[in-house]
Amino acid sequence: MMNKMFNQFSRRKFLGAAGATTLLSSARGFGAYASSLKNSSSDGVPASSGKGRIVDMHVHFDAKKPNYIEDFLKVSERLNLTALMLTPFENRKVVAEAAKQHPTRIVPFGYVDLDAPDVVQQVEELHSMGFRGLGELEFVKKPYIDPSYFPVYERANEYGWVVLFHTGIVLRAKFNEPEDVASGRMRPIHLEEIARRFPKITVLGAHCGNPEYQWAAEIARWNSNMFFDLSGSSLTKMQRRLSTFRDIFWWTGEGDSVVKTPDNDPNAFVKLVFGSDTSLEGIENVVKQYHALFDACEVPEPTRNRIMGGTLINLLGLPG
Ligand SMILES: [Zn+2]
Repeated sequence: MMNKMFNQFSRRKFLGAAGATTLLSSARGFGAYASSLKNSSSDGVPASSGKGRIVDMHVHFDAKKPNYIEDFLKVSERLNLTALMLTPFENRKVVAEAAKQHPTRIVPFGYVDLDAPDVVQQVEELHSMGFRGLGELEFVKKPYIDPSYFPVYERANEYGWVVLFHTGIVLRAKFNEPEDVASGRMRPIHLEEIARRFPKITVLGAHCGNPEYQWAAEIARWNSNMFFDLSGSSLTKMQRRLSTFRDIFWWTGEGDSVVKTPDNDPNAFVKLVFGSDTSLEGIENVVKQYHALFDACEVPEPTRNRIMGGTLINLLGLPG
């Protein structure tokens, strides 16, 4: 199947630095664990965030790597990082089990094919297994707002789930045969309608709509249940002009008090959350890229901490 092929191929081989890490850990025990790791990991290496635990919303479970979970746990410990682990439906059992054993490090998220005939049953099964949300939804045959997808969103709304959507430009996997994949079905503006029709879903958009950053930011501004990550190629593409993100996340201090933000933070950048979407070896570099963005845009410390973990800790009910 096309989606299966994409799952096996897409992120590591084609997206490269655009992998998806989702950290949903169970709340119990998280607080004590997080505070014990607050400033250094067990091997004494200072946590890269410098402040508490990183929550990475965009880590794709890689079934092709036999020691993936153990390798992830090493990175998790070194970087003081919890992952929303984006898991293909067929790998649900191994990740659910790993999340039970390591609830402070792995938060299970389920990838489903929105066009699969039994997608609603898959979603219900994931819920019964303790999954905390869906993602990364992508490679859709129709735009995200097609009514045929609403039964999935209705379930997610009922569960109060976090749902991660790919937004923007998407890889091409096949060059010698037709493929039914198009970025236009995954434009960030579609997420506006989902966030409003299904207000109990927290909508996470991956890649900040690359290259439609402006649409992504503007709809995030007006929807309290919407956030974006900047995983993928954007922070590399923009590395010499990172400060231009201030023109995109422009409304700091403009005071639209009707729209709730985490901790009532008035800084526009609070609509971002950390996501790496890369290989395990590449996560640390994405952390550095986020910090370069923060420096270039003079993002204050409390907002940085929310982006790097605080917002998702609160959303997922993880004692911080
Ligand atoms: Zn993506």
